[in-house]
Amino acid sequence: MTVDSLRVSDRTDRPVPNPRTTGGTTCQACGGPASWHRTVRGRWMLVEPGDWPTHHIPAGKRWRVAGDGTAVNLGPSVPSDTCRISHFDVCPARPAPADSSVLLALWRRHADAS
Ligand SMILES: [Zn+2]
Repeated sequence: MTVDSLRVSDRTDRPVPNPRTTGGTTCQACGGPASWHRTVRGRWMLVEPGDWPTHHIPAGKRWRVAGDGTAVNLGPSVPSDTCRISHFDVCPARPAPADSSVLLALWRRHADAS
């Protein structure tokens, strides 16, 4: 490690989420449990804990967390019975999801708990 790289790391004043961390965090908007994962496009998203029935989750909101921690959007495909979902789709600090009864039920559960 060079002096220059040390200086660069010193400038990092924001904590960077670790995609390999499975312990998770809490959503800053609602306090609900979730974990940060980086998508294949390099953006960070909060993933809701647990697995959800894929057929009840709208296409485009189905996610899978790869072995290296990367969040992969499944699109309309149904590769398995369960999938992961983004916390952003069920965060009670955001508008209620209108396209899925499962997501809406989860949103309501979070809203009651917060
Ligand atoms: Zn939230």
